[in-house]
Amino acid sequence: MFKWLLLFAGAGLFYLWIKGKKQAALDAENPFKPNKNKPEKVSSPEVMVQCQCCKVHLPQSEAVIFENRFYCSKEHLQSLGSKGWVGDAHWRISPNQDARPENTQPDLVVIHHISLPPAEFRNKPSSHHIVDFFQNKLDSNSHPYFAEIAGQKVSSHFLITRTGELIQFVSTQDRAWHAGASSFLGREKCNDFSIGIELEGDGDTPFEASQYLVLANLIQKLASMYPLLQFAGHSDIAPDRKTDPGIFFDWKKFQKETAISGEKLPFGLSPR
Ligand SMILES: [Zn+2]
Ligand SMILES: [Zn+2]
Repeated sequence: MFKWLLLFAGAGLFYLWIKGKKQAALDAENPFKPNKNKPEKVSSPEVMVQCQCCKVHLPQSEAVIFENRFYCSKEHLQSLGSKGWVGDAHWRISPNQDARPENTQPDLVVIHHISLPPAEFRNKPSSHHIVDFFQNKLDSNSHPYFAEIAGQKVSSHFLITRTGELIQFVSTQDRAWHAGASSFLGREKCNDFSIGIELEGDGDTPFEASQYLVLANLIQKLASMYPLLQFAGHSDIAPDRKTDPGIFFDWKKFQKETAISGEKLPFGLSPR
């Protein structure tokens, strides 16, 4: 009985040996046969994107993404690009713009305030109305004041909301329509050579600390690209028509936070 068992085991081992030899021969014939134990990795090609600021190409997985835009680094996200757009601002392009006169670089920043409807921000967030206004999308039926102004075609380069959100409507290289009839130290048509910054406000309410912070940060970027910038309020360049940014805009605080020299503030630091 034991002999039979040995014979069977021997036959079994012989069979396995023959089978192994056959498989080895087959594998030798077909060296590219995929190995079943190690499935091949199916790797899709890496999607490449371009940094909005420096135009370098990089894999999307390594990019910093903001509002569907790609940047190679946090530094480039936060910078003012050569095309005149701030990377980490919300871009809401306004049609109310055109080219600056030839060979004109901005050398003035005009500070404004705006709120729609006036003072509404005290009760509820309403900065979206300003965005609509600058994009000619204000619904004139939704408020009597909107019916008055909806036909106006205006814009600014930037808006800083009560919560410190930075929104950009026009490239700093182009002309936004914010100043209207105006004169800065004898030079007319300030839109030609200025950058307009709107602070959400109503003239009767102090501005928020976060608005000053975002403003100072923005001024730093602007001043590094345009070293000749001087600073004025809308009321300084259109005194017969305009009162903004008003007495609640703290020019001393503005100067302290931006570290701008006094010479760049030709209208002084007193409230007005
Ligand atoms: Zn870059
Ligand atoms: Zn204004």
